Amino acid sequence: MLTINEIFYSIQGESTYAGRPCVFVRLTGCDLRCSWCDTPYAFHEGSKRSVDDVLEEVDRYGCPLVEVTGGEPLLQEDVYPLMESLVTRGHTVLLETGGHRSTARVPEAVVIILDVKCPGSGEAHKNDWTNLERLRPHDEVKFVIKDREDYEYARDVIVRHELAARAAAVHLSPVHGTLDPRTLSEWTLADRLPVRIQLQLHKLIWDPATRGV
Ligand code: SF4
Repeated sequence: MLTINEIFYSIQGESTYAGRPCVFVRLTGCDLRCSWCDTPYAFHEGSKRSVDDVLEEVDRYGCPLVEVTGGEPLLQEDVYPLMESLVTRGHTVLLETGGHRSTARVPEAVVIILDVKCPGSGEAHKNDWTNLERLRPHDEVKFVIKDREDYEYARDVIVRHELAARAAAVHLSPVHGTLDPRTLSEWTLADRLPVRIQLQLHKLIWDPATRGV
């Protein structure tokens, strides 16, 4: 069984898949408390659903792209059969994970979007650095940037771990409403950093507080 917060169909707002229609399966529960978290409702709200029940609802949308997200989806054991079943059914599966839980058991075909926590989140000390060693060429890495300290932290991790060469993409995403995307872009250009500036597309299309988009 899984505890599911919500399943919805929307436009993918992040990663190199941004702009594509996508079914989101949001799992309940998270053991982090990032200062800028935009899904605190996923900490506790949810209902018990079987893997088959979730697959049936996903199928109804007839959408090839599916993202498994949270909360922190790797906290629930049945996320593994869910991801395997989605892959078997021919979906492109994205997994958004907070970077503090091991990705060792994530199926090979799944695209991991690994969120590396920066100091401004308050949770950087929990990063599991072995996840960076396990990156596959189709995986992507994301840093949410709150201020200059976060930027310099991300820059150092990117350079030290040669992330641009080892992942499909490295994204820097400014905290919405806190860090001006232009400022982040100028820092990135000044350092010739090989990353993508990522704006959360769904927050530009819909009101940032809207749920289920
Ligand atoms: S890991 Fe994600 S869901 Fe958990 S507190 Fe951080 S931003 Fe929120």
